[in-house]
Amino acid sequence: MIITDEITCLKGIGPKKAERLAAYDIFTVEDLLRYFPKRYQDRTMMTRISDLQPGATALIRGRITSRSYSGYRYKRRAPLTLKAADDTGSVKIVFFNGNYLKNTFKTGQEYFFYGKVTENRGRFQMVHPEFFNTANQSEMTGIVPVYPLPEGFSQNEMRKIIRQSLESSEMPDEWLPEQIVQSRRVADPGFAFRNIHFPGEKRHVLMARYRFIFEELLTLETGLMYIRRGTAEEAAGIRIESSAGEDFIGSLPFTLTDGQSKVWYEIAEDLKSDVSMNRLVQGDVGSGKTVIAEIAIYTTVLSGYQAVMMAPTEILAEQHYETLNRDFGKFGIRVSLLTGSMKPAEKRGVLDALSTGATDVLIGTHALIQPDVRFHDLGLVVTDEQHRFGVRQRHLLSEKGNRPNTMVMTATPIPRTLAVVLYGELDISVIHTLPAERKPVRTFSQRKKDRGRIYDFVGTQLAAGHQAFVVTPLIGESDKIEARSAEEVYDELKKRFREFQVALLHGVMKQEEKNRIMSDFSQGKIDLLVSTVVVEVGIDVRNATVMVLENCERFGLAQMHQLRGRVGRGSNQSYCFLIVENESELAAERAKILTECHDGFQIAEEDLRLRGPGEIFGTRQHGLPEMHIGDIVRHHDVLEDARLAARDILNADPDLAFPEHAELKKKIRKMFGENIRLEI
Ligand code: ADP
Ligand code: MG
Repeated sequence: MIITDEITCLKGIGPKKAERLAAYDIFTVEDLLRYFPKRYQDRTMMTRISDLQPGATALIRGRITSRSYSGYRYKRRAPLTLKAADDTGSVKIVFFNGNYLKNTFKTGQEYFFYGKVTENRGRFQMVHPEFFNTANQSEMTGIVPVYPLPEGFSQNEMRKIIRQSLESSEMPDEWLPEQIVQSRRVADPGFAFRNIHFPGEKRHVLMARYRFIFEELLTLETGLMYIRRGTAEEAAGIRIESSAGEDFIGSLPFTLTDGQSKVWYEIAEDLKSDVSMNRLVQGDVGSGKTVIAEIAIYTTVLSGYQAVMMAPTEILAEQHYETLNRDFGKFGIRVSLLTGSMKPAEKRGVLDALSTGATDVLIGTHALIQPDVRFHDLGLVVTDEQHRFGVRQRHLLSEKGNRPNTMVMTATPIPRTLAVVLYGELDISVIHTLPAERKPVRTFSQRKKDRGRIYDFVGTQLAAGHQAFVVTPLIGESDKIEARSAEEVYDELKKRFREFQVALLHGVMKQEEKNRIMSDFSQGKIDLLVSTVVVEVGIDVRNATVMVLENCERFGLAQMHQLRGRVGRGSNQSYCFLIVENESELAAERAKILTECHDGFQIAEEDLRLRGPGEIFGTRQHGLPEMHIGDIVRHHDVLEDARLAARDILNADPDLAFPEHAELKKKIRKMFGENIRLEI
């Protein structure tokens, strides 16, 4: 058996069990072997019964000296009580509802028990310990893995099938380049697989984990570097006459904030120079990033090049399209929109105008990276809410020009270490200020009993001609999660606010419908929008003054901050109500942070403190492939190591053509998907 075989070749795995494992993406023996324990139990030490301490978890070996089961036919829920003894003493073992075990234990026989020791009326006991007989000693003692259990499996079953996989399949050969293995003393695959599951010693777990983390991060780094190569190299870029930006700035109805001016200055310096711009612009929600992009686009077009701006949703792309049309109209700059839901004929027209250079600026969604999108002379690539896109998508867009300037904008603060992984050597600008007219959104943490009053307040805001959002974590009812759904809230509010236009928006609606609702909302045709988090990104409706978040404990802190940023965009005082449904302390603490803090960067730090780095800077959020065991924040030292190794590999073998890199190549393909531009 080899590890690429399907799991049905294992004893005890029939079609039904295989199906259950498939739900956890386990199809092959290798997938199973990569299903790592979440922790280990230390059963290396046997405790003498006289040494047992209440509160401790212990392994004992004892002979059954008495057993009693008081159940009878009509009373099956009675406990089974055993007494187990060794040379030093005896202890009581209790199984509640012990009926099913009453024939398992035989007096006089020896068993191992593993579990927590408690005290009852001055006597020690173990309630529901794990037990096994002496024949299974070698498997059940030592350092024993504990798995996150797939549905329908017990710990013992998991241990058994994994042990079987380890024993009966041939372990893969070392595939990491020899030099790397040598210099870093990386454990070989067979050792790593065996010891991550059934470690001989504790430190073997660490060695095994290091191998898997290193191999995953090496695959990631080599893949990223491969994709990035060519675009990231310092090379002659396009030169833009950025002083023209002053004309556009002068045409705006407001003056730039200090933060905006500073960032524009940094961008202008990049544009003027010979080297391609590669800049990340971070700025809190509402700090006015769009206008910075507009100035850069304006100067690019005036220097005779085209510009493109990619947004993560159609709603946002359309909003940018409208903004740019409004602001560029008077300068004769021609702006077009390209989205996935456009009709083919319409699309054809846009693409033709683009390739001849008749269009100056193209705004769109992922549709922009399709191969049929060809520019006449692309000089600037802007990506909005960057963290929503994959690294690959960004590079595919840049490749449509000849080393265009690139600018990525995000409201998510990214720690320096992570930025280096994501963007290579990227320059970072931060907009530290908010437009002066803006008043902080008054934010309240509320209980569910306050709901009625909150909606009364929403009513008064609507009556004053303003608009409101109510955001829920769920679309429809769910039996798994207890939370108010958008549909439920919508039905309720439609009745409550009969004199207003109330609409529902959620992610599974047709794109056209979502667009229609969003544009009706921004034109003021809808007063109250009940929605799921689809409104999260970038929507700018200045007349909206109330944001209500239902079941706010289900949202991330940073996400709540983003949602709150949908209001308070005009000069009216705005309000945000966080309804904490579940009374946990953490939920209340999180809500409180938002009521006190309006700075996205600070909120992100708090989020980091409360949730730990893995979750927030989760790879998916940043468009990186999903990691299995490696964590780019927590394992940043391994990452750095992997980066150096990846660089050595690609320096020696830029196309990954050497036979010793074949497996690495395969793993990169698997991690990044087939589309990766690996002509190999
Ligand atoms: P974000 O950084 O969240 O993308 P936007 O670019 O959407 O923010 O800007 C939010 C709103 O603030 C827009 O309506 C924009 O016109 C306005 N705005 C931007 N800069 C200024 C400024 N300097 N003074 C006043 N309003 C501004
Ligand atoms: Mg924005």
